[in-house]
Amino acid sequence: MSHRPTIVIVGSGPIGSAYARLLLEGLPTARVVMFEAGPQLTGIPGESVRNIADPDAKARAREMSQGPQAGRFRSSLGLPEGVSVEGMFTAREGTHLIDFGGEGSGHAPTFPAAAASTNVGGMGAHWTCAIPRPGFSEKIPFIDDAEWDGLIATAESLLHAQSAAFADSAVGGAIRSLLEEEFGGELPDGYGPGTLPVAGDPQPDGTMRWAGADAVLGPLIDPSSPLSARFTLRDLTLVRRVEHEGDTITGVTVEDLCTGEISLLPADAVVVAADAFRSPQLLWASGIRPQALGHYLTEHPVVISTVALDAERMSRFASEAELDVELARRAHNAADPVAAVNRIPFSEPDHPFSLQVMYSETTPFRMDPGAAYAENRWGYVNMGYGMRKFPRYEDAVTFDDEDPDYRGLPNMTITYALTDAETAEIEAGTQHLRRAGHALGAFVAEPRLLPNGSSLHYQGTMRMGRADDGTSVADPWSRVWGYRNLYVGGNGLIPTATAMNPTLMSVAIAARGAQRLIDELSDE
Ligand code: FAD
Repeated sequence: MSHRPTIVIVGSGPIGSAYARLLLEGLPTARVVMFEAGPQLTGIPGESVRNIADPDAKARAREMSQGPQAGRFRSSLGLPEGVSVEGMFTAREGTHLIDFGGEGSGHAPTFPAAAASTNVGGMGAHWTCAIPRPGFSEKIPFIDDAEWDGLIATAESLLHAQSAAFADSAVGGAIRSLLEEEFGGELPDGYGPGTLPVAGDPQPDGTMRWAGADAVLGPLIDPSSPLSARFTLRDLTLVRRVEHEGDTITGVTVEDLCTGEISLLPADAVVVAADAFRSPQLLWASGIRPQALGHYLTEHPVVISTVALDAERMSRFASEAELDVELARRAHNAADPVAAVNRIPFSEPDHPFSLQVMYSETTPFRMDPGAAYAENRWGYVNMGYGMRKFPRYEDAVTFDDEDPDYRGLPNMTITYALTDAETAEIEAGTQHLRRAGHALGAFVAEPRLLPNGSSLHYQGTMRMGRADDGTSVADPWSRVWGYRNLYVGGNGLIPTATAMNPTLMSVAIAARGAQRLIDELSDE
């Protein structure tokens, strides 16, 4: 390498962070500058807010992530005066709706729950940390298995993967046994009920320290590491445009949201990892407009329910004393809603869905004290099936240069519809959920399909493809077609129909892109 390359990364979520870490480890003289439109929430950049024990501090961190819906914090986040919010739906804590209502709001009548997080760590400061591997047709057909396994190993290491979180929980074990009785005979070997792999580090007291972008950044945010000297993270700084000449990216134009100052930073390469809606928006705003940009939007239709665990059935596999141990462990971090986590993964041909089963000693909603199962010593499970959405060109986020959003970027319109293919799988998945519920106990919240956009797993809007034939935005190494030094990252790259939580897959894709960029810059 002939010089000290500067690489700009747009977005500080898990994917931007994976690029930063791998590039700095692989390029001994490179400098990485990461821009993040939202604020840093915690002393440790990108930490999961679920690790914050104090409920008030946790609520504050979540509200500060909510961009135009950040309530009392809006002015401190550099938002223009007069943005009013009239959203019909409430977004998940830590996120804000794309279609929040009011001036500068996006338009998503057919995808109303579409949401984003605007903070250091992105959605990765709020996520549930489930990191199953993609399987069967979920995988990318043009990356061979041996290479893919290596990429997944890198991604699991970056995310501090735990394949057997809470595996010692007797309550979790009893849930798995009951599900095994119900479904075991009809699932392929290795794809039956099991523990859900999660991202985090088990603590000596049995709780978890959940992983966010902080875990991925690792040494980059450790002042004692030499890597940290080559890493700069600038929060509350919006990238407005990716600058380019011909097929070459030359830098980025950024706005300091606290001062309003606009500046240009030259760069040798740019990685845009600003989520599946705002990355294509930034490319569009920069005049980079491949035909597939924003199209082929998919997510996971989600059917959820809550079930009161049946004492008699659970007692066949776990004792009262073991339940006491579980409840004592839960008391260590009562503010963390996640305890034993189980799943049935996607498999083909007969189980093209992904079941997630989260044990909790309380329900996520207030129950009428007189209602059946309002008091349930064995607790509850919150269960959901994630289903597939098959990619179609017409499911898309599109952009309007004449209609500025609340940041002055071309506003988004999301157009989306479920077809017969999805409706059939939703019906089948719902029947599976009913069977799972009856196997475990009694429904206290019946299965229901959530509004479009609720999964928070938005995919396909910058899909990768084998050829530049108009159906993809990026090449198999995440490089935008037609540009030699522009990379994109995030769930938007995923070209297949999937049912699993996508972050592990997107970090694996990022690991491949980062290696390509390391090779390119090393050759210059
Ligand atoms: P993000 O984490 O969304 O980060 C993108 C960042 O880019 C944001 O911080 C944004 O502010 C910034 N940005 C955008 N535009 C600009 C700009 N122009 N300039 C500067 N910065 C910009 N996934 C799973 O796999 N498993 C789960 O269990 C799971 N649970 C979830 C639960 C919740 C409540 C939420 C909210 C999400 C969950 N997800 C889960 C999704 C997961 O968090 C995302 O897949 C992951 O965070 C995507 O990473 P990313 O880096 O691509 O994008």
